[in-house]
Amino acid sequence: MRILILLGPPGAGKGTQAKEIAARHGLIQLSTGDMLRAAVKVGSPVGRKAKAMMDKGELVPDAIVIKIICDRLEEPDCRRGAILDGFPRNLAQAAALDNVLADKRKKVNAVIELRVDDEELIKRIAGRFTCSRCGEGYNDASKRPKAEGVCDVCGSTTFTRRPDDNAQTMRTRLMVYYRETSPLIGYYFCKGNLRTVDGMAPIANVGREIDKVLGEIKESK
Ligand code: AMP
Repeated sequence: MRILILLGPPGAGKGTQAKEIAARHGLIQLSTGDMLRAAVKVGSPVGRKAKAMMDKGELVPDAIVIKIICDRLEEPDCRRGAILDGFPRNLAQAAALDNVLADKRKKVNAVIELRVDDEELIKRIAGRFTCSRCGEGYNDASKRPKAEGVCDVCGSTTFTRRPDDNAQTMRTRLMVYYRETSPLIGYYFCKGNLRTVDGMAPIANVGREIDKVLGEIKESK
């Protein structure tokens, strides 16, 4: 089992890169944000508890997300490994993940930090939207559908914007990132598995950089 973590503020490109890396490396993408949004959509007890925090841009309680991710890692499709996108989000979650992996005699193999300027993050988040049918991601500024209003991938004409992708909530999310999540950069640096990639580069270049890092890690093992 290989465990990779993508670390970075909202809008850094974690979801986009995680999806592509997962496909290229035969890993499962685990996004706690996606899982929580799915729970909110079906109105499950977890979804009902999480919704208010998500709407405000605050973190959902650790116990909820730790359980979601630990249960998911037990499923057979994660046997080869997973790429975690949006988890861990604070030191308590990182410690819980280390403990769960230690029980399986595993550990986090690599943490890739995507670094992007704050102003660019705000711009990216304000412009992003996804196809309602297949989930393909777009952006008003950098990636519009080739035919206006039609998804490039599945041809659907309905798109959605996340309710927490607005300027006000975005600033809270960024603040939460600096307060709660950015200490993980030091945590993983000290453990020796942090690698930093320039997230300002075009999507394909960022993907190539990440592949290079993953290749180097594999060779050095
Ligand atoms: P994301 O899609 O990763 O931007 O997450 C959207 C929202 O889900 C966040 O603003 C949090 O409210 C919640 N969330 C996602 N992952 C976590 C996590 N690991 N810990 C706590 N809350 C989370």
